[in-house]
Amino acid sequence: MLHHHSGLLSARNIYNFLANQAQEDENLLIDFPWKSIWKIQAIPRIKLFVWKLAGKALHTSSRLGAHNPEIDPNCQLCDFQVQETENHLFRSCPFARTIWFRFSLGNLTSSANTDPITSWAKGWLLNPDLDNLAGKISTILWFIWKYRCSVVFENITPNPMQLIDQINRFLQSIPQKNKTKGLDNNRLMMINTKWSDINKDWIIVIDASFKEEYLSIGYAHIVYSVDHQTFMHISAGSETATSALHAEAKCLQKAIICLRDNVLSSVSIVTDCKVLADSINKDNTNLSWTSENTVQEAKTILKDLPRAQVKFTNRKYNSAADRIAKEARIKSLQHMSTKLQQKLSNLALCLMYLIETKL
Ligand SMILES: [Zn+2]
Repeated sequence: MLHHHSGLLSARNIYNFLANQAQEDENLLIDFPWKSIWKIQAIPRIKLFVWKLAGKALHTSSRLGAHNPEIDPNCQLCDFQVQETENHLFRSCPFARTIWFRFSLGNLTSSANTDPITSWAKGWLLNPDLDNLAGKISTILWFIWKYRCSVVFENITPNPMQLIDQINRFLQSIPQKNKTKGLDNNRLMMINTKWSDINKDWIIVIDASFKEEYLSIGYAHIVYSVDHQTFMHISAGSETATSALHAEAKCLQKAIICLRDNVLSSVSIVTDCKVLADSINKDNTNLSWTSENTVQEAKTILKDLPRAQVKFTNRKYNSAADRIAKEARIKSLQHMSTKLQQKLSNLALCLMYLIETKL
């Protein structure tokens, strides 16, 4: 029900869904501080997950099992033979409790929870003492859910240590924007106003770096939230391509695939390659067949993302992505280590700062 026919999950769809839910659970959901979810310092996917959790929209086994007798309604993370409700899965399940205790958040759990999950989430979302922890809590919840899905669907044997390890690695990879020298929210706000012609909720700045001798490319995506004036995510990697344009097209294709898998309400993908932007936005272009194929694939996915658009920008706005793409190519980056990701994130922030001060 949550998914619009376009495949996009818009705030309105969620609102409508919640409005319907509210009839059953009126007071709790109406009182819920929905807007504060967007202030959590976490990637969009995690925020959306918290929306779903608080809106009781997760497909837990207990919820699905109520409608389908073939589905085992019990928790797969423990041997307690109790129904997998949100309260059990995220709070009282011994598996979840092991995770919370490991991250010194044992106070969030209890073996006997009777208050609804919505009130529980409201508690830590609005608690000023837990302000900086909302991102961490949301992240851990999301990881528990992801892990639970791999146990249910891929028959992985539950191992809390494995999950703790995954969460640790993820938390270490998050850019520490407050630690970046000389950069504060006012700066980011200024960057935002310079980009004022890009009137979208999200901006993804992309770039590719191509080396003809080796046919190798590096690519980079920097995801920026207009609402929050902050960088949400950076990814980079290496690949092969047949030409500089093919490299740019592959970079775009990867960004669009990322969009398809993430929920980013309205998005401008920004490239400094004019031919590429034109080939996406106009029908008549002459491209080599390799680039043509990649561009067509990107266009096909874009058709399902009506609120995403590709825009051309001047190269000077793109130097952060450019630097990261070069670094990714030179290091022939397969998987970004958390250390490198941190380094690249800081580099992007510093470069944005430099661009801003030079303008
Ligand atoms: Zn359990």
